[in-house]
Amino acid sequence: MKYAMIGTWRMAYEAIANNIDQLKQSTAPGAALVQAIVEVENYPYFKSVGYGGLPNQECEVELDAAFMNGSTLAIGAIGGVKNIKNPIKLAHHLSQEKFNSFLVAAGAEKYAQQQGFEFTNMLTKRAQQHYQKKLDLLRSDPTLSPYDGHDTVGMVSLDSQNNLCVGTSTSGLFMKKPGRVGDSPVMGSGFYADSEVGGAVATGLGEDIYKGCLSFLVVEKLRQNFDVKTVVQEVVKEFNDKLIQKYGKCGPISIVALDKNGEYGVGTNCEFSFVVGNHNQVTTIYLAQPNEDLTKLTITKPSPKWLADYDRARKEPIK
Ligand code: ASP
Repeated sequence: MKYAMIGTWRMAYEAIANNIDQLKQSTAPGAALVQAIVEVENYPYFKSVGYGGLPNQECEVELDAAFMNGSTLAIGAIGGVKNIKNPIKLAHHLSQEKFNSFLVAAGAEKYAQQQGFEFTNMLTKRAQQHYQKKLDLLRSDPTLSPYDGHDTVGMVSLDSQNNLCVGTSTSGLFMKKPGRVGDSPVMGSGFYADSEVGGAVATGLGEDIYKGCLSFLVVEKLRQNFDVKTVVQEVVKEFNDKLIQKYGKCGPISIVALDKNGEYGVGTNCEFSFVVGNHNQVTTIYLAQPNEDLTKLTITKPSPKWLADYDRARKEPIK
């Protein structure tokens, strides 16, 4: 029996470890993945997802999320929503609708209210402190970019019935303009899945990721029988090089993928942590580090110091 789950960033660890066993049973496709993303959304110290997410320029938390069932190709997505406790649940719900499957802002909130979704104030004291600190920094040095805080939790799951599902959830770019939507809820860019082939999700600078529809591109490479273990890095490298040619730079881009057999692959142009568990191995955190020209990826287990530093950075008081 094959099953697997992969997620972006170290923040996916506990959630995948808690839910991966569900993939052995024949529950509804995506149930384990949605529950795992809910757990990341609910944890206040993951500062770029759900409750405790980083606010926009006006100190409001605006959230994006998406879900795709690779067996039916059904998609649900939401962009720029405020105060919906679990955006991934709403995205999953919308994937079961024939119409109106991508809703944004006030319309999405109205729909969530009508459907009885839970609302709560998603702005934590800690996120407000991050905002104030950033505001002070930007005032003292106007040459600084405001947009250097972000991360998306994205997951791909394969259950024992061969259903591949993907999901994403994020507060997007810290200090973004109200209404800005990144790649995470945009089908083909932040996520894509086809159970006959594979699934992929992205994290990084949305404005660059959606220039290349990178999640769809990875899945299409898998359709052409490229090996998931190497092709994801090739996709990132090729696109990174293209953007450097056109703009002189490329933002951070990281992608995780599973093929239909539960084999996984990763591509990144920056240091990137990810989490994977499957029929062969317990859920494990890894660190991917590309070489300078992105032709090689070194994947290691993070050191105890790296893990401790990560935990400390999440929780230490903001000065
Ligand atoms: N891709 C997300 C966005 O642009 C942020 C991230 O994953 O880091 O909204």
